[in-house]
Formats: sequence, C-alpha cells, structure tokens
Amino acid sequence: PLPATQIHQMLQQQWGDALLQRLHVIGRIAANLGTPAYLVGGCVRDFLQNHPVPDIDLAIEGDVRAVAEACSAELSGVQCTYHAHFGTAILQYPDGFQLDLARCRIEHYPAPAALPEVQPAAIQTDLIRRDFTINAMAISLDPEKFGDFLDPYGGRADLQRRLLRVLHPHSFLDDPTRILRGLRFAVRFQLQLEANTRGLLEEALTQDIFARLSGARLWRELKYLLELSDLPAALEELGAWQLWPLLRPTPLEVESLLAKIRRGQQEIRWLHCHFPDEKLCDTAVLLTILWRDIPWAEAEKRLHYWPVADGRYILNDLHRLSKIPAALAAASHPSAVAQLWESLSLPGILALLAEYPESATITESGRYYLLKQRGLTSPLNGKDLQAMGLAPGPQLGTVLRRLHDARLDGAIKDKETARQWLIRQGILPSTQP
Ligand code: ATP
Repeated sequence: PLPATQIHQMLQQQWGDALLQRLHVIGRIAANLGTPAYLVGGCVRDFLQNHPVPDIDLAIEGDVRAVAEACSAELSGVQCTYHAHFGTAILQYPDGFQLDLARCRIEHYPAPAALPEVQPAAIQTDLIRRDFTINAMAISLDPEKFGDFLDPYGGRADLQRRLLRVLHPHSFLDDPTRILRGLRFAVRFQLQLEANTRGLLEEALTQDIFARLSGARLWRELKYLLELSDLPAALEELGAWQLWPLLRPTPLEVESLLAKIRRGQQEIRWLHCHFPDEKLCDTAVLLTILWRDIPWAEAEKRLHYWPVADGRYILNDLHRLSKIPAALAAASHPSAVAQLWESLSLPGILALLAEYPESATITESGRYYLLKQRGLTSPLNGKDLQAMGLAPGPQLGTVLRRLHDARLDGAIKDKETARQWLIRQGILPSTQP
C-alpha cells in the first residue's frame, strides 16, 4: 500500500505547493462541515501515472452545495456554481483553475442501459459505482488523514499490470457506454482487457446492448474515440473488441483505411491553410471516408440516430460520390466541372480528394474549384436583370444559372461584360443602353 506521507510527497512534487495548499484548504472546510472530501476518479489514475495535472474531481461525502458555498465565502475571488439537478458544483479560482465537486452516491440501474437512479452514499460505495478499477481510487483530503489512499478494488495494481477490469459482472449491461470508455482508456494507457472482463464484454455484445442506448450517448462516445490522437491504435482496438459494427457493417483493413484518413487529414490542413476562416466539420470528412463503400441505408440508419452536425450532407455526398470521377473525366467546360464539385459538400470534396491522390484530373480540378471557382456568383442578380427589362419568373432563374456558368467558364467577369454577354446571347436587345 501507498502510505499517506508518500502520497503527500508525490502530490507536492507533481502538482506543486500552490495546488496542494488549495486542496488542504478545501479538505479543512469540508471536514469542518462534517462532510469529508476526496480526490477521486481519473485525476487519481493520472496522478499515479505521473501524467500532467489533469482535470481535478472531488467527491464530497455529504452536501456538495454547503461545501462549495463555504469555499466561495472563505476564499477570496473563488466563484461557485451549483447544479442542483446533478448535485455537482464547480469552484472557479481567479487564475482560471477549476475544481469539480460531486456528491458521493450510489447508482441503481432500473433497466439495462437506462439512466441510473441515484442516492447519497459513503465514499467506499461511491467507488463501486465506477466503471473500471483504475478509475475507482480516491485520496482523502481530510486534515486528520490527508493523503490516505483508498483503493478497495486494486486499481493501482491493475495500472501497474496494465489491465482494464470492471468492478462487477453487470457493469457493461448497466451502462454500455463503459465499453467505449474502456476502449479509449485501453488506447490511451495501453491497457489489456483482463480475462474475466473480456468474457463479460463478449457476453454483453451477444445481447445487442448498444441498441438500448440513445443515439446521442453512443455518438458522443464514438466521437471521443475517433478524436483520439492515436487513431490507428483506436481502430485496431475497435477490431480486437469486435466493435466495428457500431461504425459500419463490415470491418475494414486498417492500413488502407488509415492511409485514406491521413490523406483526409492532409486535405483538411490544406483547406485550413488556404481558407483559415472556413468552418469545416472534420468528423464529416472522416465518416464519408469510412462509409464510402457501405450500402447507403447503413449510413442512413446510423445518422438517423446520431446527432452528427451536417449528417444530411454526408448522405447526399455518399449518393453522388461514386459517379463523380467518371463525370469529371467526361465534363467538357469548366462550368460543368464546377457543377460536379458544387454538388458535394465541403467534407465530401475533401473525402474525394483523399480517395484519389493519384488522379491528376480529380486533384487538379478539385483544387482549382476550391481555390478559384467556389463562391463565384453571377455579377448580375435578379433585381439587376429586372431593371434591365427582363420579366420575373422561372426564366429569370434560367438566365441567372447561365450567367453563373458563363462566369465559371471565364466568359464574363463583371456587370458590364455580363450585360454584353446577355446581348450576344440574344437575351437582351442590342439597343440596351
Ligand atoms: P478523462 O477525463 O481523462 O477522459 P476521467 O476518468 O476523468 O478521464 P470522466 O468522464 O471525467 O473521465 O469521469 C470521471 C470519473 O467518473 C471516472 O474516472 C469514473 O470513475 C467515473 N465515471 C465516468 N463515467 C462513468 C460511467 N459511465 N460509469 C461509471 N463510472 C463513470
């Protein structure tokens, strides 16, 4: 076991005197109210691995609000925000430092994958509601036993052996998001599934457990996974955990997929370099690459449940993408080429560029479209045309589209050249002033 004195020393070395002092003060204030405080969860895990100061979570054995308000009253400049619904509080220090406080609680799951019912509890019970042993450790901030290390489930030993272990057999069924959380921890900290936990995972997967989760909760976890800096490891692990079906119906060969994803990331960087203000949904590029070869209905089914920004553009792109290369090769005018690119959303364009790095036709026309043609409009608008004597109606729309094409083809560049072009086309009489 780790003695309190050693924890104290390690905290001082890793987190520094100023932060340690803040923790001492909170520990004292909480103890005075008869509601002890503990460091808990991910920050203890990260501390034991000597990772940089993480987000710090405190568990309070009792009324969180009273502790947060007492801290705010006693400590000058410290703001407290209390969230009654969650029984949590945030302490905001003047230098931007933040502490998250939550009440120790026990959770009861009325049905698999349902949201839990919650009741106040002691720290030992609070720890058992957590996802993995490595996240179920605490450090006391109580003045009497500051630095006491609580590790009832062997989280420290599991960290040292690099094992990911759930705390009880029902864990994944209670909350399937733990499976994706676990996958992330496995990738971030290079952990293996402990044998029994692997068995529980396999059992949970036979029960179609993710179908009971709301799409929003599932998507949030998948998005975290896709955003991991070590995406190659995340995708490898996704296969090892047999979780490809969450993302797509069939597994993909990771190496070639990764090559495409890397090219997609290069395209994203290229775009940001040329258009620093452009808003782009990176995830849409990734999903388009991931879903290029799957039946459209499979993508639609997923996007129906996941709140992906720009989801409908992804579906539109998936419909069109396969026809675009041949159509580009056949297009004769710059305006025809531009129209093909225009039929895609920006993420769809980047996904296509990432898919065909060898094709000069696609690369060159795509870049030309993005740099020179996108956003070009007709120099004359509907009002201008009406002022020139054209009647309102559908034919006005046709003229505007032709003007737009003429601009893309380089036949016109401003109002005057557009007017002359309209005369040459017989759309305006040559007597126009
Ligand atoms: P990080 O923030 O570095 O990704 P973390 O462990 O701090 O890791 P949080 O999502 O902030 O992650 O969760 C804080 C703690 O709350 C976890 O360490 C874990 O003890 C507990 N926890 C979070 N989500 C769950 C869950 N779905 N089931 C059980 N316990 C959970």
